[in-house]
Amino acid sequence: MQVQKHFWFCIGNGFQASVWYDSWDGMSPLADHITPREITRAGFQLNDNVSELIDNGRWKWPSEWTLRLNNIQVPHLSFDDDKLLWKDNNNSLQDFSVHAAWEDLRPRDNVVSWYSVVWFNQNIPKHAFILWLIFRRKLRTQDLMSEWDRNGSGALTCSLCETQPDSHKHLFFECPFSLHVWHTVKTKADMTNIADDWDVMVAGILPMARKLSVQSVIAKLVLAATTYYIWDEKNARLFRQQKRTRDQLLVENEAWHVTLVCYLLFRMDGLGFEDLDCLQTFKPPPPLRGGDAYLNSVHLSPKNSDHVIVCNKTSSIYLMI
Ligand SMILES: [Zn+2]
Repeated sequence: MQVQKHFWFCIGNGFQASVWYDSWDGMSPLADHITPREITRAGFQLNDNVSELIDNGRWKWPSEWTLRLNNIQVPHLSFDDDKLLWKDNNNSLQDFSVHAAWEDLRPRDNVVSWYSVVWFNQNIPKHAFILWLIFRRKLRTQDLMSEWDRNGSGALTCSLCETQPDSHKHLFFECPFSLHVWHTVKTKADMTNIADDWDVMVAGILPMARKLSVQSVIAKLVLAATTYYIWDEKNARLFRQQKRTRDQLLVENEAWHVTLVCYLLFRMDGLGFEDLDCLQTFKPPPPLRGGDAYLNSVHLSPKNSDHVIVCNKTSSIYLMI
């Protein structure tokens, strides 16, 4: 996958980086050298992280793999989280930013019609990336992974509805679970005129996508956040054995919704938006106004008590965690 080669883990405690599928060494991803069958036969899991393969400063894998894996050095584990960096086209590592990623990935000739739906200043970087992968049909959905399930065990059904294998088309938004989330979020965001079918929905958003209006930014943020949450929930069930019902997910989305509004209002500060009418739809619920929000410290704006702002200015990427 073109984008995957750009993500690089600087190993800290080894908990976040997948030992088989992420890039954290020149030989990575190790799945290019060791097959899933060999991994499971050796007693390991496909979702093992780096730390799970290290014991007392040594690799746990069979000694016969050592030469095949070119004597990869064992990382020195620390107490810090693994840090995800961006490896640019010149192989330089840097903190991830939408700008750097866009410069490295964007097609240099024909600009795709949907680029303004994904790449805009107010978008949240990790949401933008999932959305970008969806548009490129590059998410690792189970229809693309089905070669692992050649014995037809059926284990690879959609983890959200558990009725059929997932795919881009199924997840966004044919799956009953996804559709419920999308409908609910659309209603909250006053976007009920936007379709459920992906292609029709995109066609509906495209005409306003390039406008610097609140409605445009909200529509794009809502789409990016919703697809991110659905993809995250699908993976949480599949790989982390964590399961939330669609209503639990929506409750979390309430916190997300408030944060999104705060984030948006904060980013609008000084941007010169004129179309503020639809902000009426986005006032956060009264109990949160002026108090603590669930995800970030949120306060009433000293200039306008109808507005709320997020205190933390540092990086929008942390707002959704
Ligand atoms: Zn489903």
